[in-house]
Amino acid sequence: MNQFPRFLAFLLAALGVAVLLVACGAHAPPPDPLAAYRPAFRSESLPSDFDVDAAPRYDIELSVDPRARKVEGVARIHFQNRSGRPMNDLYVRLYPNLPQLQGTMRLTGVSTLPGNYAAGYAYQNNNTTARITLTEPLPPGATIGVEITYNVEAPDRSGYVLFGASEGILNLPYSYPILAAQTTEGTQQTTEGTQRDPTSPWRLDVPPPHGDIAIADPSFFTITATVPSGITLVASGVEITQTQGISDTVQHHLVAGPDREWTMTVSPSFQKASLDVDGIRVNSYFLPQDANAGHSALADAAAAVRVYNRLFAPYPYTKLDIVESPTRYLGMEYPGLNYIGLDTYRDQSGSQEVLVAHEVAHQWWNGLVNSDPFRYPWLDEGLAEHSSLLFIEMIHGPAAAERMRSLRWQVPVDWAVKNGYDAPAGSEVTAFDGTNYEILVYAKSALFFDALYQALGRDKYLEVLRTFIARYRFKTPTPADFLAVVSEVGGIDPQPIYQKWILSGPKHPSPKPSE
Ligand SMILES: [Zn+2]
Repeated sequence: MNQFPRFLAFLLAALGVAVLLVACGAHAPPPDPLAAYRPAFRSESLPSDFDVDAAPRYDIELSVDPRARKVEGVARIHFQNRSGRPMNDLYVRLYPNLPQLQGTMRLTGVSTLPGNYAAGYAYQNNNTTARITLTEPLPPGATIGVEITYNVEAPDRSGYVLFGASEGILNLPYSYPILAAQTTEGTQQTTEGTQRDPTSPWRLDVPPPHGDIAIADPSFFTITATVPSGITLVASGVEITQTQGISDTVQHHLVAGPDREWTMTVSPSFQKASLDVDGIRVNSYFLPQDANAGHSALADAAAAVRVYNRLFAPYPYTKLDIVESPTRYLGMEYPGLNYIGLDTYRDQSGSQEVLVAHEVAHQWWNGLVNSDPFRYPWLDEGLAEHSSLLFIEMIHGPAAAERMRSLRWQVPVDWAVKNGYDAPAGSEVTAFDGTNYEILVYAKSALFFDALYQALGRDKYLEVLRTFIARYRFKTPTPADFLAVVSEVGGIDPQPIYQKWILSGPKHPSPKPSE
């Protein structure tokens, strides 16, 4: 047997392995830190300068007892000190303790990972915040993990129920400790009210009953949620697998992000219908007695996704859930999941379509472009409102849009001006009350965007919105950032329109007329 070819073959094989090893060493891509979460979002939606290290990561194991309306969980939160200073305290929000939500949330243990920063904790802001104190300061830019065990109890209520059980549906948003948002200028809640605090990065705003609840930074989540068999779990993100748990339970393994909030709802009665639109799975969950409206909600949501995909930018997630919810005629937006009030399923007046269009628009104006719901609530509410007019205009024509403009926005704003409820729409959330918040923050600011729409024309206006998204995806722009895009891309000075609709109005609402 000729040994040479065999030797050559061996040599070539060895060289081949060496070449492969070199190739692996020189060109192996670094591990993708977001690999686990990619099933939940569309990679092209993430800007190239997205700061992966700055996004908090949550790893949560929780179990839901729907009958007792209880959640027990352990949350591991990894985050970076972005304050630029050594950090002695960190804050998590316990929103179920808000009076308007009527629930309770307690921490039962807090430790840090690794354990060299032993921590204590104390409740503050009427138990809506826990301050976790580190025994050694965390250096700027360093990351830390904190492990929190907790439990939540949700109420059984009637009327408007954002959090809790009603009509066979159990809404459980905010059912985990939410790391307070870190910004360049934090907020403290004092006996005087909400105060800016330039010495702290933490946003500790306590929301008034009429505004949005939470403010948090875009984050990534892995969740294992254990629920009894036969209970439908609807949650932000996508389910990767399901396993059988003990005592007739099912464990749902989910990933989500980049989301400011993770949310879930459970029901023993939910039915589901789905559609695929532009590669996005749109699901509608509804009670059996509302099946017709549940299918309508699905069709409206799918149409809205299709319209906004074309008008604004591609929807950032791989899934959108539309969930019938005991929020009466109102809805609520969460990343990839919208609550739609069940009264709109039972009302024959067509209120559901506009509500779905508004809530789905929030996936762009609040989900994709984050906004500050306490300092500038008008920015995403006005954009979501006006986007629903663009949707109605595309689906039903200009006459329907004109009716919406007049009846939904102009008439209520005229009423507010005449009856002493007018105020600058651009105020912080605490400047409003339950009477004028919706009229001014939704309708009056929608008229601001509509005035821009008329002044710029449709094509330029849409170009402004697309540029605003391209520049501020998963960032939190201010009104000044938006106005700068209007000047630059729209080529007009937006100040007169901004003054008229957003800044003008009595500084303090007039005394309410006595009735
Ligand atoms: Zn809204």
